[in-house]
Amino acid sequence: MAKRYQGCAVGIDLGTTYSCVAVWQEEHQRAEIIHNDQGNRTTPSCVAFTDKQRLIGDAAKNQAASNPTNTIFDAKRLIGRKYSDSIIKNDMMLWPFKVIPGVDDKPMIVVTYKGQEKRLCAEEISSMVLTKMRDIAEAYLESPVNNAVITVPAYFSDSQRKATKDAGAIAGLNVMRIINEPTAAAFAYGLDKLADCKEERNIFIFDLGGGTFDVSLLTIKDKVFEVKATAGNTHLGGEDFDNRMVNYFVEEFKRKNNVDISGNSKALRRLRSACERAKRTLSFAFDTVIEIDALYQGIDLYSSLSRAKFEELNMELFRNCMETVDKCLIDAKIDRSCIHDVVLVGGSSRIPKVQQLLQEFFRGKDLCKSINPDEAVAYGAAVQAALLTEDIKKAPELVLLDVTPLSLGIGTTPGDLMDVVIPRNTTIPKKMTKRYTTPEDNMTSVCINVYEGERTRAKDNNLLGWFKLSGLPHAPRGHPLYVCFDIDADGILNVSAWEETNCCRNEITITNDNERLSAKEIQRLIEEAENYKVEDANFLEKANALSDLDRYVYKMEKALKDKDICSKLCPLDKEKIESAIAKARNLLVGDNQQREIKEFENFLKGIFEPIMAKTK
Ligand code: ADP
Ligand code: MG
Repeated sequence: MAKRYQGCAVGIDLGTTYSCVAVWQEEHQRAEIIHNDQGNRTTPSCVAFTDKQRLIGDAAKNQAASNPTNTIFDAKRLIGRKYSDSIIKNDMMLWPFKVIPGVDDKPMIVVTYKGQEKRLCAEEISSMVLTKMRDIAEAYLESPVNNAVITVPAYFSDSQRKATKDAGAIAGLNVMRIINEPTAAAFAYGLDKLADCKEERNIFIFDLGGGTFDVSLLTIKDKVFEVKATAGNTHLGGEDFDNRMVNYFVEEFKRKNNVDISGNSKALRRLRSACERAKRTLSFAFDTVIEIDALYQGIDLYSSLSRAKFEELNMELFRNCMETVDKCLIDAKIDRSCIHDVVLVGGSSRIPKVQQLLQEFFRGKDLCKSINPDEAVAYGAAVQAALLTEDIKKAPELVLLDVTPLSLGIGTTPGDLMDVVIPRNTTIPKKMTKRYTTPEDNMTSVCINVYEGERTRAKDNNLLGWFKLSGLPHAPRGHPLYVCFDIDADGILNVSAWEETNCCRNEITITNDNERLSAKEIQRLIEEAENYKVEDANFLEKANALSDLDRYVYKMEKALKDKDICSKLCPLDKEKIESAIAKARNLLVGDNQQREIKEFENFLKGIFEPIMAKTK
């Protein structure tokens, strides 16, 4: 197997709550989802720090209730954003871990690792999740994995995409391309329907995951995928349904027992996990029970929930989803009757009520569920990864076109209006040049502010960066200037501007570096990631050494309890063994290196074995 998969690239769906990795299988002409060490096909995007070790994935999520302040999830909500961003401010109230402002208003997550405070940026946490996904793939493929295609929500801004790419770099991955999640899902879906694509087909992708909701309208024609429109809510998903359930049970617990658990983060996390499990059950059962022993002050929570009640609790959110669906179609100026396929993506799209409402919206149309909803995005990413890997020639020839999720433009004076250079939902890659003029006489420089967003006033949009174009010739107002926006296939934007009179030309490119980690910083983080890896390995070796020692001590204790052996021991030897055991017990609880532990085990053997030999 090793040889077969050598040098192959994987597709990674780096989800807000769950991540998934897949690889293209040449001989079967399909992508395969790779299961993790726990046998699960998706892995929680969760990293935890303890006084002894770092945990990633299921292991991290499983201990979250007992270590809430050092268990980090939702890094995708932080990535590429500023600390002062109102979205982050709101999220912080829900997070049990601490986030503080760092250099350049970058949000930094504060954890205690091995008894020391550590500050980590979202890119680092995401890189740890990516490292885990890479390890999962390498273990299965029995070959190093260096290349990957990573997906992001369609609504991700330029800086969020770049930050995701940086996370890949920190994980030591060559990120071949960043693609939109719904596009990837459509890609996976397109494989099945390839034969029917002679005429243009309108496909609607409905992706309701754990933390984000994305809808997209795509067309497929002549093997070309095009994203016509996107809409969504970066704050709507399975976790919100869980929250509604949590609130319901908090109230119920208060009513029944007269105690309020809402201030106790540990109790809340235990309740939240139980609610998530119950929710999954309600997708195929009509009733479920929730049982949590000693949830708070020794009081058990024992209750039940019906599917109808679950739907009632979340109806507002479900309707919200449908409004977004409507908005996307209006944006694209396409009537719902013109949609050929409606595709379900994301774990929460398994909820029957969501499916029912969606089906009703599309006037009874059958929904496409043939692709496993939690896996479709990784599947598509793996197909794309194979396409980008030269030596896999047989992967289906499909071309992918993505769009800009937000309009891009510059602020103009006077009035500080947003002048759009590349409208939203433009297919990328795209290069656009626009002519402007100087607003005043004799200007020697102008400031160019680059924004993304849909608001009329430039200031209300998101400022991506700015630069000065200086050295202009003295001229009356109205002197021509040119601004060029260039977005590459990864959705990464370069803006340049120049003035043109008789060969006099200035050109400047901005790459949004202020929001991005510097090459030096990335290098530092890569080294740090290596350190973590070494530390994790050391921890494992040490844990193994300790368990070997523990086993050996147990063997010695057992010998002492054995009447037959004991009768053959002289008091001095017995004492020797007892004292050695006592020393070993001390060592087992102390903080020693693997080498010391091994040495001590050998020392024990040196005492115990000759004595035992005498008893034979
Ligand atoms: P992400 O949004 O991170 O990409 P997924 O698409 O894997 O994640 O969706 C994860 C969400 O799906 C979680 O909130 C999970 O509780 C939910 N989910 C998974 N299976 C089911 C199910 N059978 N019924 C309802 N919700 C589910
Ligand atoms: Mg997803």
